[in-house]
Amino acid sequence: MNSYSARYRYKKRSEIDAKWVLIPGNTYSIKDNLKSLGCKFGERGGAKGWFSDPDSSHMGEINELVKALPPAPDYSKWVNITGKTFPFKETLKRDYKARWNADAKAWMVDPSKAKDAQDMVDFATGVKKTANSVPGIPCEECGTEPAYQKGGRTLCDDHIIHELELSQIDNVMEGETV
Ligand SMILES: [Zn+2]
Repeated sequence: MNSYSARYRYKKRSEIDAKWVLIPGNTYSIKDNLKSLGCKFGERGGAKGWFSDPDSSHMGEINELVKALPPAPDYSKWVNITGKTFPFKETLKRDYKARWNADAKAWMVDPSKAKDAQDMVDFATGVKKTANSVPGIPCEECGTEPAYQKGGRTLCDDHIIHELELSQIDNVMEGETV
């Protein structure tokens, strides 16, 4: 079998019957359930996702799963993070589930995470101001450049935040009366 026929077979398999219906919502978290209920992942007319035969005996069960999905986030209520966020975008995405707001050209986060995310950016920016950038020397944790020297360590943007958070915890502990 050559690679052409393999690709063709794959394409055939992902084609969705015209009468099948697209399962709405952010179905990623229920994809295994959908699969076990006979749904198929594919694309039809530009719509990509999980499809089901509308006459499937599982339709009731599928509708229950969809109803239980968390509602789609209301991005109009999300808060833009200000300041020099670019160096910290990986942390914003990973730890604060930030999304890029193309209109505002800013990273935005859920309102419940806004204060923490803004504090992180302000805090990390402040530390970078007092750290020496070291051209040609990579982060000792992950090898990324540029890195900055602070407190006897050489760290990239991402790792400087964790150092920072650790030193914050240390300060709190030292300040506590035992
Ligand atoms: Zn690093």
